[in-house]
Amino acid sequence: MIVLFLFKNSMTVNDLRKELSESKRIVITTHHKPDGDAMGSSLGLYHFLCSLGHEVHVVTPTDYPYFLHWMPGHPEVIDFLQDPNKAAELVAQADWVFCLDFNNLSRINELGELVRQSPAKKAMVDHHLEPEGFEDFRYWDTTSCAAAEMVYRLIVDLGLKNHINRDVATCLYTGIMTDSGSFRFPSTTANVHRIIADLIDAGADNSRIHELIYDTNSENRLKFLGRVLGERMTVIHELHTAYISIDKALLHQYDIVTGDTEGIVNYALSIHGIKLAALIIDRGELRKLSFRSKGEFPANEIAKKYFQGGGHRNAAGGMSTDTLENTVNKFLEVLPEYEYLLTE
Ligand code: 5GP
Ligand code: MN
Repeated sequence: MIVLFLFKNSMTVNDLRKELSESKRIVITTHHKPDGDAMGSSLGLYHFLCSLGHEVHVVTPTDYPYFLHWMPGHPEVIDFLQDPNKAAELVAQADWVFCLDFNNLSRINELGELVRQSPAKKAMVDHHLEPEGFEDFRYWDTTSCAAAEMVYRLIVDLGLKNHINRDVATCLYTGIMTDSGSFRFPSTTANVHRIIADLIDAGADNSRIHELIYDTNSENRLKFLGRVLGERMTVIHELHTAYISIDKALLHQYDIVTGDTEGIVNYALSIHGIKLAALIIDRGELRKLSFRSKGEFPANEIAKKYFQGGGHRNAAGGMSTDTLENTVNKFLEVLPEYEYLLTE
């Protein structure tokens, strides 16, 4: 079933088609510390809009993991933190800003206010809950497994499926693969597999993409992972919960960079019987929390209620300005409230 929620004042796909019939200056942006779906959807849309002859730039609020740097279009991406003036100029002069894989301007840090103030029309293409409502065009479906899936559907809705070239297909495949946990989360419907088949037909090299994303560990990262799982993971058997906390010293000792901690929380969730997993990392300026859950357990509720965050039911995140120790304790204090769900 495909459910598209149209915003009350949203322009329609037809309106967008008309807008895109003339050459436009377009900025595509996505959430901070972009993941595979954020970059896959952004670069997929980038190659698609380039193929229509628009002047397009992808601007990210921060850097993103090295294992996404092979993606077509990566060298052209502008990191706001590296080149704030150029990023600000592009946003201010754009006709359109496309916001992908997020729906609240606070998710793009300082870039958010620049986007808000820009006279550009704004499009939001996303699959997260509770949109803020800053956009002129909304293409939003919370049942969708990835923003990259939404980009695929938008291209099809625009009647421009023939513009899905190899680069578009490669990027969209990457977004769907990473956000669906390699096609294993419940959001991976038969239709998602049909889309994936289409993307392979259009030139996505599925086997190569898996290798480029998942087989890029550094020796350091694997040794770090061993230390973390051996020494920093706690399992609370009676609450079917496991959590990992990582201090700054350990990150420093192993030269941990953006992307190295990606996926670690899933090891905790993979323990037999565990329903809730948390990863709490001291990032210096703040403590970042990642939550993963199984079944009906609402990880996003804990993220939203206690850690200024949000996300999906089974994958959510948040932050804390308190110390690492206090943040861990706060997480532990929250658990009894959810005991009835964790032990049912
Ligand atoms: P991760 O644990 O991979 O950083 O994030 C998992 C999911 O949680 C993301 O896809 C996003 O939906 C959500 N998320 C992570 N951090 C935040 C945050 O600080 N605020 C909000 N609203 N959502 C977050
Ligand atoms: Mn996503």
